Amino acid sequence: MAKEPEYIIVNIDTPRKYNWSTGKYLGHVYAEAKENKKLVGNKCPKCKAIMWGPTIVCPKCKVETGWEWEELPETGTVTQYTYLVFPLWDPHYGERWANPHPSGTILLENGVYQRHFLEETDPEKLKVGMRVQAVWKEDYDERGLGMQDVPYYRTIEE
Ligand SMILES: [Zn+2]
Repeated sequence: MAKEPEYIIVNIDTPRKYNWSTGKYLGHVYAEAKENKKLVGNKCPKCKAIMWGPTIVCPKCKVETGWEWEELPETGTVTQYTYLVFPLWDPHYGERWANPHPSGTILLENGVYQRHFLEETDPEKLKVGMRVQAVWKEDYDERGLGMQDVPYYRTIEE
């Protein structure tokens, strides 16, 4: 087994605070996630598809989607997964990246596909068809990052 190289860690304390507008639609998603622990998508008035992430125009019908919102279900089925192992270090902060790093495509109960991280790190337990549920950041002050207010999906038994 190869010896792991030693790295020099340089901490750079540079404040990076800035403000940017999320826009009307994405701003609504961020607000619902922070205030109500809900992920919401807007609905196309023509084909009734739920837009995730929200869009102004339905990509299929080419019509304005408007302001009708629907809460995304918290549970779904994994239709594909990726199990990445990063033997790398973050070049900016000198910290080791999450390792392993499972993620998946999740078909939610309403037909919306969600691409997100999975909590399960045992590759033997990762399966297509496994049922998962969104796990929310419980602390109000930690929320406010939209989809990242759900750090991952957890395997559930039904
Ligand atoms: Zn449509």
